[in-house]
Amino acid sequence: MPAPEKIAIIGSGPAGWTAALYAARANLEPVLFEGLPKQTGGYVLPGGQLMLTTEVENYPGYAKGVQGPEMMSDFREQALRFDTRVEPRDVVACDFHKRPLVLTTVNSGGEKQTVDTHAAIIATGATANWLGLENEQRLAISGGGVSACAVCDGALPVFRDQVLVAVGGGDSAMEEASYLTKFASKVYVVHRRNEFRASKIMRQRVLDNPKCEVIWDSVVTEVVGDKQITGVKLKNLKTNEERDLACRGLFVAIGHTPATAFLNGSGVDLDDKGYLMLSAPPRMHTSVAGVFAAGDAADPIYRQAVTAAGMGCQAAMDAERWLAAEGIE
Ligand SMILES: Cc1cc2nc3c(=O)[nH]c(=O)nc-3n(C[C@H](O)[C@H](O)[C@H](O)COP(=O)(O)OP(=O)(O)OC[C@H]3O[C@@H](n4cnc5c(N)ncnc54)[C@H](O)[C@@H]3O)c2cc1C
Repeated sequence: MPAPEKIAIIGSGPAGWTAALYAARANLEPVLFEGLPKQTGGYVLPGGQLMLTTEVENYPGYAKGVQGPEMMSDFREQALRFDTRVEPRDVVACDFHKRPLVLTTVNSGGEKQTVDTHAAIIATGATANWLGLENEQRLAISGGGVSACAVCDGALPVFRDQVLVAVGGGDSAMEEASYLTKFASKVYVVHRRNEFRASKIMRQRVLDNPKCEVIWDSVVTEVVGDKQITGVKLKNLKTNEERDLACRGLFVAIGHTPATAFLNGSGVDLDDKGYLMLSAPPRMHTSVAGVFAAGDAADPIYRQAVTAAGMGCQAAMDAERWLAAEGIE
């Protein structure tokens, strides 16, 4: 039996690579499971959500902006420089009732392998929920005007003084639509029902905003555009009436799904939406001693690369202190 790992990091986005960098520099010889490519409504790639975007303008240190995949390649390179061991595997199940902790992993050929580890950092991120329409993912990945994050993309020049469409009816859709009005000439909010699910204060902010117009009882049925979105087709669910709406941007704000399904039955606490729960914030400890969380998988609020990286740093420092207290160095 090989000796247990000191620390295993699950996930290869900004949170996972930052945790690896800090753990490696603390001589913890981390192993990082970077995940396999897959499609789960949207695409999931090793390297995380930024592999699916073009320009990142708000990550500090890149004064001129950077392409998402290039930034994640930089993160990876920096973690490897300090001897992080990278395994191209998915973690498909965890048993945190045992000591050491047990992770079940699978490679691209479907072969399973279990790994024992004293500590684990879960940094598996989340995926934005998409409408599932043809063209949607293609234009999202190519920077063609489709996005799932107004804070990330709303300020890009391509959206300035343009007509934009936001889809959704919850708090985050209200937040996205309000945020977009800082840049857009007009924001249509398309919602499938005749009232918003969002809290009163959030929905009022949209209803009172002169730049926002709500299109009730309607869904987007088609994303139109070749290199850049030029419009959407809408269908009214009550009347079945269809119409074209010209726009230069589509922001899908129908929620996120944390990538934590593999933790069901593991013993760690998740909230009702599947986000990892922190037992003593701002520390990154979870409900299980030795299991730490970082990034979007534990963050339903901020969901930014810089906050994910910050949480990765915190998780590694918390793990290092916990391991030292357990006499594992
Ligand atoms: C289109 C788009 C554009 C964005 N633009 C910006 C931006 O401009 N600026 C900004 O700050 N933020 C942006 N964001 C948000 C940002 O990408 C996220 O906040 C950030 O990537 C979260 O990092 P993370 O490390 O928590 O998780 P993720 O980036 O989601 O990475 C997690 C990765 O872990 C791996 N993984 C998942 N499950 C497993 C498993 N079971 N086993 C092993 N590996 C697994 C996968 O490879 C997964 O991709 C954008 C997001 C999207 C979708």
